Order: sequence, then C-alpha cells, then structure tokens
Amino acid sequence: MENQVAESKNFIEQIIEKDIEEGCYEHITTRFPPEPNGYLHIGHAKSILLNYGLAGKYNGSFNMRFDDTNPTKEKEEFVDSIKEDIKWLGADWEDRLYFASDYFDKMYEAAIKLIKKGKAYVCDLTADEIREYRGTLTSPGKDSPYRNRTVEENLELFENMKDGKYADGEKVLRAKIDMSSPNINMRDPIIYRVAHMTHHRTGDKWCIYPMYDFAHPIEDAIEGVTHSICTLEFEDHRPLYDWVVRELEYPHPPKQIEFAKLYLTNVVTGKRYIKKLVEDGIVDGWDDPRLVSIAALRRRGFTPESIKMFVELCGVSKSNSSVDYAMLEYCIREDLKLKRPRMMAVLDPVKLIIDNYPEDKVEYLDVDNNQENPELGTRTVPFCRELYIDREDFMEEPPKKYFRLFPGNEVRLMHGYFVKCESFIKDEDGKVTEIHCTYDPETKCGTGFTGRKVKGTIHWVSARHAVNAEVRLYENIVDEEKGKLDEEGNLNLNPNSLTVLKNCMIEPDLARAEPAESFQFVRQGYFCVDTKDSTKGKPVFNRIVSLKSSFKLPK
Ligand code: ATP
Ligand code: MG
Repeated sequence: MENQVAESKNFIEQIIEKDIEEGCYEHITTRFPPEPNGYLHIGHAKSILLNYGLAGKYNGSFNMRFDDTNPTKEKEEFVDSIKEDIKWLGADWEDRLYFASDYFDKMYEAAIKLIKKGKAYVCDLTADEIREYRGTLTSPGKDSPYRNRTVEENLELFENMKDGKYADGEKVLRAKIDMSSPNINMRDPIIYRVAHMTHHRTGDKWCIYPMYDFAHPIEDAIEGVTHSICTLEFEDHRPLYDWVVRELEYPHPPKQIEFAKLYLTNVVTGKRYIKKLVEDGIVDGWDDPRLVSIAALRRRGFTPESIKMFVELCGVSKSNSSVDYAMLEYCIREDLKLKRPRMMAVLDPVKLIIDNYPEDKVEYLDVDNNQENPELGTRTVPFCRELYIDREDFMEEPPKKYFRLFPGNEVRLMHGYFVKCESFIKDEDGKVTEIHCTYDPETKCGTGFTGRKVKGTIHWVSARHAVNAEVRLYENIVDEEKGKLDEEGNLNLNPNSLTVLKNCMIEPDLARAEPAESFQFVRQGYFCVDTKDSTKGKPVFNRIVSLKSSFKLPK
C-alpha cells in the first residue's frame, strides 16, 4: 500500500538528504559529544536520540565521544554514568567509543601545521589584554604586538609551551584570522593554552590543552563525522569551525548544524542549581526522582520509550522555546497504559468491615491484570471480611455528586461485591477508624449479575493479606507560582515536592515487585519500585505520574 501522506521532514533531515543526493557524502556519521563534567539530563537525551536516530534512518553510523579536552572539571565517575544513561536510552555506538583526549597528539600536529602555514602565532598578552584588544560588538579589535612573529619563532615558542617552560596563562597559541572581523569569534581566537593540570586519562603528559573551538572540528574530522549537530549557541562559532577544517585541509570536511536546546517548564536542568540542591541535601543525589537527569527519570520510572516519544513530539527547531512538563507526563502515561498491570494499593488506609461476611472465609478473586490488554493475563486477589480502603473514599457527610461510600450508600468494591455502608466508628479526635458495611453475595463481579446499578467503584485490599509499603509522591521541586528564582537568584523551592506515605497497604503480589518494576495503582497513577531504597519483600514506590491530566497534545 502506498503511503499517501507525505512525511514531513525536519530541517536537519532535509540537509542530510540533499547532501546524500548531491553526493557530498556516501555514508553519514553523527556523534554525541558530552563533556564528562556532570550527569546527562533530558536535554542531552534529545541530542542523543536525534543523532542516533538520524544515523539509523540514513544507514549511517553513530559515534560516542567524550569531549574531554578540559581537565579542570572532568571526572571518571561521569564517564561511567554517561555511558550507562546512553545505553539505557537505547542508543548503540557499537565499537565506536572515542575520547577526544586520544587525539591530543593529532591536535598538536594540527597546531604545528597552522603555524607553518602562517595561520597561528604564540601570543604573550595577558588574558585581560587579550580581552581589551579583542574589541566589542560595535568596534573592531586591534592586532596583538606578537601577531607577526616568524614561523620559526612560533614553532620554538609553541614547543616550549608544550615542554612546560611557561606558567599557566603566560603564553597562548592563537589562530591568525582577522582582528576586524564582525564576528568576535574570528578575532584571532585562542586555540591552545598552558595549563599545568593532570588529565583524567592522559595524566601529566600534557601541560597545554586545546580550546573547544579548535578541538571540536578536528575531533569530528578525525572520526569522519559528516553532520556535527550542536545547539544554537554555537551558531556564531560556525565560521571558526569551517575555518579550522578548511585550513587543516581535511579531505571530507564535516558540517556543523545547530538546533534549539530543549527546555522544560517546571524543572531544573542547570548543573549549577542541581549541584547546590545535592550539596545542600535538599535532594537525594543526582538521581533524586524530582530531577530530570536521565538517572533521575529512570529512578522515577520513566521508560526509554516514553522519552523517545517525548523527544519526537518536541521536534527539532531553530528557535528556543520551553516545552510543558505535562507533555512528558503524557508520554509516560501513554507508554505504560497497556504495558503494565493495574493493581490495587491503598495509600491512606482506613478499615472497612463487612459484618455479614463469614469471619474466616477467604475468596481468591480472578482479576485481569489489564482490562485493556488481555495479553497481561490474570492474577488472584484475596478477599475477606476486613479490608482497607482509601480514607478519601468515605465521607460522613458527602457533598453533592459524591458517589463513593457514605452512610446508607452502596458502592462496588472493584473486582468484588457491592457493599453498603451501615455505620462507622470515630476515635476521640473525630478520625474515622472503622467503616461497617454489609455485602450482597449476589453482586459478585463476573457472575453475570445484572441487577441494580451503583455509581461508585472503589479499590481495596484485604486487611489480612495486605503488605505495608512506603509510597513517595512528588511535585515540582520549584514553586512555579512564585517563579523559578527569587530576587537573589536562588531557586524558589516547593516545600511539598516530596510526600512520604509510610502506612500504605498494597496487595500481596505487589510486595514481590522487583526494583524498577512499574505498575498502575488503580485510580491513583503509575508507580515504580525505587532502585535505591527498596529491600526484598519491602518495596518503596515512587509515583511516576498521576492518572489524570488536563494536558492535550498540541495539534
Ligand atoms: P549543560 O550545561 O546543560 O550540561 P552542555 O551543553 O554543557 O549542557 P555538553 O556535555 O557539552 O553539555 O553537551 C553534549 C551535547 O548535548 C552537545 O552537543 C549539546 O549541544 C547537547 N545539549 C546540551 N544541552 C542540551 C539541551 N538542553 N537540548 C538539546 N541538546 C543539548
Ligand atoms: Mg558543557
């Protein structure tokens, strides 16, 4: 069958298809180049899935490369977490795992090549002087007095830089481009600096390190990357990227393409803020379920499929905007809806006693795991005289349109019988402690009962069989109503971002759940077994998302 609907292509796909059509590249290669200086977040997931997806779509390759040219902030710990996160997302770099630091020799040779071509020089100006000489957006820069050093002198000084003869900041190597260029990035940018620092992979072999704008195009060219996709803030750096690949005469120059970063409402993505939340003990590490690092999303119970759906819905664009966090919630609901069993858990239990049900009797009710997906099979749920129901499913004096339990009213116990509230008991503080009901044996679910109707259905667990569990409910970590930041630039924290419920009662099958397993708790939402704090037989559940939302997909 022919597909009548023309598939709309994003602007990057259009560029790639044109390049393939015109024979610019036979085989396309993309890459994801994180700096190992923190945990990956949802924005990085977009970049990963975009690059991996494009390589897959056009039968190309996807490279994984750690952009570890800046030894100050990099840590091995981050290398491991980044690899784990990318694997979890499902992006496969096969045998193409690279480190920019493996190219330091080649970058050094590239710098020598530029010097020999008269396209780079060693400069003795201080950082402040360089800034001063650079000019501004409205005024041109002026030439450094060291700009016209001879090739021989530059070669010797650069070698001295490499050999550790200068202190940090004493000398730099600069590209010789144009101090009056309207693009400040082209005003003789620094390409190598002296930094006596130990690198996490090369140790003390180097005391000079290349700058990002020089290193990145070289890394791409060495790996045969064809489409080097980055975010918009690098748009003004593209002329420099192109200058580097041109002057170094790479046979198949890579092409830089920029797209807009992904921003989300209601969440914190900035490393600076997250680091502070971690250090101040406000969150439980970088994977606290209230954060949107990939590790946090995973711990909360998001799936790779839901993140992929989200990223695809966001699309690729050239202008910055924020996406509603509710769209991410929509995606996880859609993903789990048919995939996961629907179980019964009571978060705020109160006892319900069926006075006319035999004291020792236990019935094992056959229950569909997911009414909308028979493939998930069935399970049995024990039913007996004493149950727990959620406190909010009973009211002494109900408002209009309250169809759940109140004195004299009849409701359906999900998968079970109709029960009618006959009386209730309160303690000294006025808190309801027991609800007494009678049941109608004729109304058992699945018996073909077609009698009277009731308007409310509530969930429950058998008091004798239920297992106690901890459940954690989450809200946004920032108080969006006040605005993300206060006057001093600190985050406006939401004091209710975490609610811990310690007395929840769950059906026995749920107590056997494994870490990272997720479920729908009927009428309440989707929950995932916490991977850090659960122990065998004693799961701790994170609420991923509630069931209902007013969110509608934009047309
Ligand atoms: P951050 O400062 O938020 O951690 P970064 O740009 O410093 O981000 P890098 O490790 O340097 O992080 O980036 C790796 C890749 O991920 C880059 O190609 C970058 O453009 C991309 N990236 C980073 N943030 C986002 C985002 N919010 N949306 C899409 N892509 C992003
Ligand atoms: Mg960075």
